[in-house]
Amino acid sequence: MSDTVEKRAICFTCAQQCGHVATVRDGMVVRLHGDRDHPRTAGFICPKGAQAHDLHHSPDRLHSPMKRRGARGSGDWEPISWDQALDEIADRLQQLAKAHGAETVAYTFGTIRGSDYSIGTRFMNLFGSPNSVGQDKICLGPITLGEFLTYGFGPSSPDLQPGVTRSLVLWGARPSQSARPAWHTMEKVLDAGAKCIVIDPARTEEAGRVDIWLRPRPGTDAALGLALLHEVIAARPDDSDFISRHTVGFEELKERAANYAADRVASITGCAAEDIRAAGKILCEDGPTAFVAGNGLCQTGVRTVQHGRILACLVALTGNLERKGGQALLGPPRDILANGDFMARDALDIAQRAKALGAEHFASIAHYDQIDETVARAWYGKRGIPHWLSTAHEPTLWQAILDGRPYPVKALIIQGHNPVGGSANTGEVREALLGDGLELLVAHDLFLNATSCLADYVLPAAHWLEKPHFSMGAASLAWSGDYVEAGTAVIPPQYEHRSDYDLFKGLGERCGQAEHWPERVEDFYDMMLAPAGMTFAELARNNGPLSGDAARKPASEAAAMPRGEVFGTLSGKIELRSDMLAAWGLDPLPDFRLSGIFARQDEFPLVLVTGGRKIEGFHQSSQQTPAFRRKNPDPVVTLHHDLAASAGIAEGQWIAIETPVGTVRQRAHIDDIYPSKVVHADRWWYPERAGPSSDPFGVAETNINMCTSNSLEDSDPIMGSWLMRGLPCRIVP
Ligand code: SF4
Repeated sequence: MSDTVEKRAICFTCAQQCGHVATVRDGMVVRLHGDRDHPRTAGFICPKGAQAHDLHHSPDRLHSPMKRRGARGSGDWEPISWDQALDEIADRLQQLAKAHGAETVAYTFGTIRGSDYSIGTRFMNLFGSPNSVGQDKICLGPITLGEFLTYGFGPSSPDLQPGVTRSLVLWGARPSQSARPAWHTMEKVLDAGAKCIVIDPARTEEAGRVDIWLRPRPGTDAALGLALLHEVIAARPDDSDFISRHTVGFEELKERAANYAADRVASITGCAAEDIRAAGKILCEDGPTAFVAGNGLCQTGVRTVQHGRILACLVALTGNLERKGGQALLGPPRDILANGDFMARDALDIAQRAKALGAEHFASIAHYDQIDETVARAWYGKRGIPHWLSTAHEPTLWQAILDGRPYPVKALIIQGHNPVGGSANTGEVREALLGDGLELLVAHDLFLNATSCLADYVLPAAHWLEKPHFSMGAASLAWSGDYVEAGTAVIPPQYEHRSDYDLFKGLGERCGQAEHWPERVEDFYDMMLAPAGMTFAELARNNGPLSGDAARKPASEAAAMPRGEVFGTLSGKIELRSDMLAAWGLDPLPDFRLSGIFARQDEFPLVLVTGGRKIEGFHQSSQQTPAFRRKNPDPVVTLHHDLAASAGIAEGQWIAIETPVGTVRQRAHIDDIYPSKVVHADRWWYPERAGPSSDPFGVAETNINMCTSNSLEDSDPIMGSWLMRGLPCRIVP
């Protein structure tokens, strides 16, 4: 007789963390559906969440550790035990650190795959290396840093209240595809009569609900933002009490924005001047306004942090900061260690912190501790709150491996990340991983992919269904104040799958860190919960989230301490002119310029956008899901009818896409989603093209990141964000 049970879970297929109910039959997850009782997502489930068990049970999963036998990338492996793998890797890491310094060991991780996401940063800090490399530079980090620099705190969340929120701005964001639960709330806000401004070159589902649709040429959003600031500033009295009491730099910002009058910006962006003015009018007259910014603003190279600053200034000057129905600054839970304590940053001494890859070029990496102090001033004195912005710079990592600048990186651990598919300039990434500079490459993943197939050791990762969950309300909630939820694993780890925590605990124990790694991840979560007077087991028994007073120890010191009105900036005010940027020798005011690569616009007259989300997929990780591949058998480049007609291109035809960085080919899809001079191309790899070849997984042939740029001159000067959206390109039938 079969044994069937239902179990509540939190989905980590993407970052939204929706409540699920899993049906488990004889140890197999046979169905996932939305948890109607979940107070935040109320039964919602998207196609990829509903198919998460297909990914988990995929016949292509890695089930045991493997060690490379032949040449790197040859596909010749021998299975080994976890103990052998951990012993050999730990030995090698320690030898290399002894020979070259601990900074020669780097760790890079991708998007969230469970509650123990990025836990390798703890191992790295205890090991003495500052080179934990995340994706914050291209994933909401620039928006958040813009807020830190402006308010001394962030990130803010749209306070979406149907009937209260009177206008909504969606800028470079497609929540209908990337954050569906939040989109449902936005639809209710719009149904209740709120006006909607969409800023996106693409005709999205969201654009179907708009009052004003602005379609800036990709890469020119900062100019548009400055034009909106100009409209807002022109419409408000200069001497208002708010300006004098709570801001610095108003006159300077006013002067800067005056260079970006709607008529001039129309010629830069391609947006109609009257539409820019109409959007400005809505911002001035139809508040409260909630702002939703997406990664469309974070992957445009040279002006990503300035986009964040512009947005923060717009929110402040339209009176929407901390306004009901506008933008809320909730922060992380107060008593739970939702900060850098659990990443052990204090274990890394000042001299080692200064060696973080990218620090010589990018101020936010060199001066992370100043950002940390800024946020601590606004948040109960707690350090480490913005720890996820403390990561090193990925393109500098490839450079350090390839030519030893600024120093050689000899060992790399890659976890839940496929940089040969997902990072900019993947030709260079592959060259770095295959070259002689790297003496040890370890990959911990669910599958062999274009990156893990190059490793010296491949370690089988546990899927989120096999791990306990612990959620503090990330993703669409941003920081949601006092909110916490936990639960036990849906099924125990199968085969030899191991969690991220268990991998680094195993390495930590072998590298002299045993006292820092509690036996089980649940014990580790207990450590994080201790200040709130809770345990993981109690929370898991609660079988659902706790929020507000229930999520903290009511009599605690932090709970008794109001945040006050002081902003964490150096001036204690909203800095329209950033004192910190000035202290770093950078322009303290928001501005606009195009990436250097546009100097070749004459040869490459079109504009390329990459990485648009499909609801069935999540970045690089859905390629093995049968439903995803049925719908997406090949990579697609989307182009306008006029462009296709003028180039003589037919639907479904394979065409070449060329940029100054590289060339790939994809299937043409003709649709007027984008304007006639803009094309969109997929990130791509074919799981079925595994195995040794000159182009495993078809990346060099088809992945658009062969054509994106990670050069210094195309990167943001504050944070180092690389360029994946808004590159000059051409197409060849
Ligand atoms: S939106 Fe994300 S978290 Fe929610 S069901 Fe879909 S994949 Fe899972």
